[in-house]
Amino acid sequence: MSDIKTAVITGSTSGIGLGMAKGLAAAGMNIMMNGLETAAEIEPLRKSLEDSYGIQAHYSAANMMEPDGARGLIEAALSTFGRVDVLVNNAGIQFVSPVEDFPDDKWQAIINLNLSAAFYTTKAALPGMKQRGWGRIINIASAHGLVASPFKSAYVAAKHGIVGLTKTVALEVAEQGITVNAICPGYVWTPLVERQIPDTAKARGLTEEQVKRDVLLAAQPTKKFATVEELAALGQFLCTDGAASITGAALPVDGGWTAH
Ligand code: NAD
Repeated sequence: MSDIKTAVITGSTSGIGLGMAKGLAAAGMNIMMNGLETAAEIEPLRKSLEDSYGIQAHYSAANMMEPDGARGLIEAALSTFGRVDVLVNNAGIQFVSPVEDFPDDKWQAIINLNLSAAFYTTKAALPGMKQRGWGRIINIASAHGLVASPFKSAYVAAKHGIVGLTKTVALEVAEQGITVNAICPGYVWTPLVERQIPDTAKARGLTEEQVKRDVLLAAQPTKKFATVEELAALGQFLCTDGAASITGAALPVDGGWTAH
């Protein structure tokens, strides 16, 4: 078997996941991409990873909302590359509404994708990591895994949940060369954030500009969105041996938000 490590990144066809895919490809890893964009949108991204970094990149359309999809993504990576060394649980969605109007199906979808998918992928990826005595699991949580905001009940519940899952699995595998950490970004300018601005504006009776300035960046003392490149740099570091003692941590990348 080749020494080249394989990274599986859920939701890596856009935003933070795509940034992570670039960061880990730049570190020399083969990449299993995943996401719901069309094949025509994904193929240039996949090819660009191979061309820019000289690694192999494959793509799976597995739906992380479904347990079989999450398990299937790990199986696809194992049958393509023979190993999963790094797992980044990143795919996530948002829905904004007061709790009493929050649709039941949106609650369930957010719990399934933002929390349960990481349970199924972790379960499927751990046996191989244990066998090799090395592994990295990085869960993309959120500042909302540490603190709450109104109108995001499902998202905040799922993100607090994934921080709990991170700590629990970290303890279970601590002696086996596997680290498990959560990255907790504040606001990062990606399609997910862009899409929630109209709904937040409606829920709070504000203009979209007011939402950006007075709601999103009001919480972020730096008054700047974090970048996907900053998150990828942390992801890269967590995959080095220098980060071997960082495990069970929830690491904020939030411009000081959770220091309040
Ligand atoms: P994004 O909307 O840009 O990308 C989401 C990715 O997930 C896409 O590749 C999409 O295809 C994929 N996806 C969506 N549903 C899927 C499904 N059912 N199965 C497989 N893939 C699916 O979002 P983003 O802003 O890059 O967010 C990525 C993660 O970072 C999410 O978990 C989000 O909660 C978290 N996060 C984002 C921010 C931010 O400000 N953008 C802040 C904190 C945490």
